[in-house]
Amino acid sequence: MDTVPYQTKDLQPAGDAELVAPGVWLLAGRPRHAFNVYLIGDTLVDSGTRHAARRIARQTGRLPLSAHVVTHGHLDHMGSSHAVCEAFGIPLLCGAEDVAAVESGGLSELAEKPLPVRIERRLLGGPGHPVARTLEEGDEIAGFTVLHTPGHTPGHVALWRERDRVLVLGDVLFNLRPATGKRGLQLPPRFLTRDAARNLESARRLAQLEPRVICFGHGPVLRDGGQFADFVAKASVDDDA
Ligand SMILES: [Zn+2]
Repeated sequence: MDTVPYQTKDLQPAGDAELVAPGVWLLAGRPRHAFNVYLIGDTLVDSGTRHAARRIARQTGRLPLSAHVVTHGHLDHMGSSHAVCEAFGIPLLCGAEDVAAVESGGLSELAEKPLPVRIERRLLGGPGHPVARTLEEGDEIAGFTVLHTPGHTPGHVALWRERDRVLVLGDVLFNLRPATGKRGLQLPPRFLTRDAARNLESARRLAQLEPRVICFGHGPVLRDGGQFADFVAKASVDDDA
């Protein structure tokens, strides 16, 4: 596997993508903020459901993307990953423990999942794609540092840029629950989370970093680090989610 860090340059997507921080874009999605896809430098982070492929292509067009990162191996974060990697000829990167899920398009662990997840797989999931390189704690990607944040899935990763305290935290916390439309900070649903206690530990670790701009897999960007810290301080694994 390749260990040379990718050079990054800031790209600008077409359409009404939202500029979150220098070099960090939240692509326009539908429903808005339901399944977030970010362009960070020249790296695409997550790919939404399989229905997002054309929308991503419209916004990223002919941009010289260099890599695709999947924060974790759930189908609403990698549904268009195969299409994106094929279209741009770019490598797919994810945490080591999620490789089987990503490469199988979420089929590798489907049998043990409850019925709603199996239905969701049919509605939202796309084909798997080979992982070119695994992301480890401390790796640098597109000017961000990789943090291993297990719990929601074993190989879940977050991205952190200390200089302006921007955090892309995948599904460690939700800021909108797409299935119900419930808004605001919340723990990820229990039945979708492998180890809720470990996920909460990851959330606490992220809160200690004192992020100022928090980017979620689901929900709008939060620019209130105090609100984030308060939520994490009060959250309990016994909270009904
Ligand atoms: Zn998700």
